[in-house]
Amino acid sequence: MKGYTGVHESGGVITERHPDLCTVRVRMPAGVVSAVQMRKLTKIAEKYGDGSLHLTTRQTLEIPHVDPAHLEKIAVQLSKNGTPLGAEREEVVNITACPGTERCKYANIETIELAKKIDERVFGRQTPIKMRISISACPYVCTGSLTSEIGVTGRIRPLRTPGLCTGCGSCVEYCREGAISIRDGISVLDAGRCAMCGVCVHSCPYGLLKSDYMHYQITVGGRRGRDPQNGIELINVESADAVVEIIDRIVYRVYRRAWSGRSLRDQMDEIGFAGFKEEIEREFSGDTVSDIQGQSHRRTQ
Ligand code: SF4
Ligand code: SF4
Ligand code: SF4
Repeated sequence: MKGYTGVHESGGVITERHPDLCTVRVRMPAGVVSAVQMRKLTKIAEKYGDGSLHLTTRQTLEIPHVDPAHLEKIAVQLSKNGTPLGAEREEVVNITACPGTERCKYANIETIELAKKIDERVFGRQTPIKMRISISACPYVCTGSLTSEIGVTGRIRPLRTPGLCTGCGSCVEYCREGAISIRDGISVLDAGRCAMCGVCVHSCPYGLLKSDYMHYQITVGGRRGRDPQNGIELINVESADAVVEIIDRIVYRVYRRAWSGRSLRDQMDEIGFAGFKEEIEREFSGDTVSDIQGQSHRRTQ
């Protein structure tokens, strides 16, 4: 912002079309805000903006139409409120997450605490390109985790109790991927088609289907915008701590090796993604869920 330094240069301060006004973005991992914090935000918006708040696509709140002269005071008040200034430049921006096991019946993983942990570790870290991190607790990917620079998706493998299937076909009806069929009177999984969503687990009237190997799929290089693309799978791990650690490594890798002005997806070869993947797989082999599709097929027969 011309003529200003310090907080005015933060990624959470966005210049508006009107040259004398700016928008203030708030840091809010997983889009969670308490009623008390919300009340304070509305007061700040009434005092320093035009009384409105804007909900962004990255689960943050913005206070529009702020006079830059008040930014220092606003930053202090936001910080005291536990909703400090956000980010939107070439840096790690707000971590988004779906409600996860706290509220969604489809969820395979907890997401809110995970988003907070990731936020604590990497939020606002400077990188040559904007880094979006999104967590979805199942393959419906409501937060667009596959089209984010870093995506985390919660998945399971369906496991049928051997020998007890009645062949009723309920699980076949529920599976949208057409991954289950009835053969010789029992359900059989086509692991190659299974999206590992876990919906079938809740469909068996006899409780014969279980969730096996709950895991976090980490993808890198997803892209939105004009040429959207899904990210490439980096690794599958079973612990939230491993997810945080691996995301830290990805962000550092991008910081050291990527160039500005191009999407991460376009630089995957240059930043040595294949070698990095091998490195991560070696280092986190204890947490890794390997050969997912193959094991899934064998174990459900
Ligand atoms: S991604 Fe899955 S678990 Fe998360 S809100 Fe959507 S349907 Fe629910
Ligand atoms: S976990 Fe696999 S088999 Fe079960 S409903 Fe989802 S896609 Fe179908
Ligand atoms: S719903 Fe249960 S009993 Fe029915 S076919 Fe599927 S696994 Fe077998």
